[in-house]
Amino acid sequence: MKRFSIATVSEVSHITPNMIRVTLLADMIKAFPAYCAGGHVKLVIPPINQDIKQFQKFLGGFNIRNQMRTYTIRHINMQSGEIDIDFVAHGDSGPASAWAMTAKRGDFIGISPPGGPKLKVSSSNQYLIAVDMTAFPAAAASVEKLPKDAQGDFYTEILSPDDIQPINAPSGIKLHWVLKDPSGANPSLIETVKALKLRGDESVFVAGEYTPIGELRTYFRSEKAYPKDQLYISSYWKQGLIESEHKRVKTLVA
Ligand SMILES: Cc1cc2nc3c(=O)[nH]c(=O)nc-3n(C[C@H](O)[C@H](O)[C@H](O)COP(=O)(O)OP(=O)(O)OC[C@H]3O[C@@H](n4cnc5c(N)ncnc54)[C@H](O)[C@@H]3O)c2cc1C
Repeated sequence: MKRFSIATVSEVSHITPNMIRVTLLADMIKAFPAYCAGGHVKLVIPPINQDIKQFQKFLGGFNIRNQMRTYTIRHINMQSGEIDIDFVAHGDSGPASAWAMTAKRGDFIGISPPGGPKLKVSSSNQYLIAVDMTAFPAAAASVEKLPKDAQGDFYTEILSPDDIQPINAPSGIKLHWVLKDPSGANPSLIETVKALKLRGDESVFVAGEYTPIGELRTYFRSEKAYPKDQLYISSYWKQGLIESEHKRVKTLVA
């Protein structure tokens, strides 16, 4: 089990209609690796009505799994000991989204040490990124660290036209926004990616909901025969399943 500390909320901002940025402050963050933006942490969401003393005890116990969720470090400020976490606000059916939607300065949450970023460095300096909003923070933070002369295309599926957000990408990385369209009238993220003329030497970063990501994994691995060391393809959540159930399904098909 990971070591958890308590972080407190120092700021909350609604960066787009469907994304909430929560800035977390903790001494532990000052010791995170400087390069960890784009990596992930485990958050433990406090059960409703627990005060900080009760939560401290809860964090040391064995019942935390149901409250534990995975989120990306979008930015880190090591001097102040703060990280930004960008939560997709998908309603109150899950503890993490529900917590973020009502988070305010002074609230607390459990936080683990980070795991590393995933974008594979490309020997050709060419990149193809295709993500939904849950994986946008990981992809954006990784792209912001690429060499200035990196080239490629970065596709993000958004829930509303107002979910477009600026990032500090190298000028050769073109940003594209694919509006999710339940009617099917506009091309989906999968259709958009499959219609691309691929070079073959790109480093590929694909992440988001389980079903489309599974389809794109098959596409890149089997149909296009990309070598594994050019691919980061990962399912970040599954419609209808909470995180621990999704993780179990992922392990079964891995
Ligand atoms: C490495 C990694 C990094 C991640 N980084 C981020 C991040 O930075 N920001 C972020 O928002 N997410 C991120 N995720 C995804 C996030 O962990 C899941 O969306 C998680 O399930 C949310 O927890 P919850 O408590 O809100 O919902 P859960 O309790 O896990 O699920 C409750 C219900 O909500 C549904 N649900 C879960 N997520 C979504 C969603 N996005 N849209 C619609 N329905 C949903 C589930 O299918 C389920 O029916 C990341 C996942 C991984 C593996």
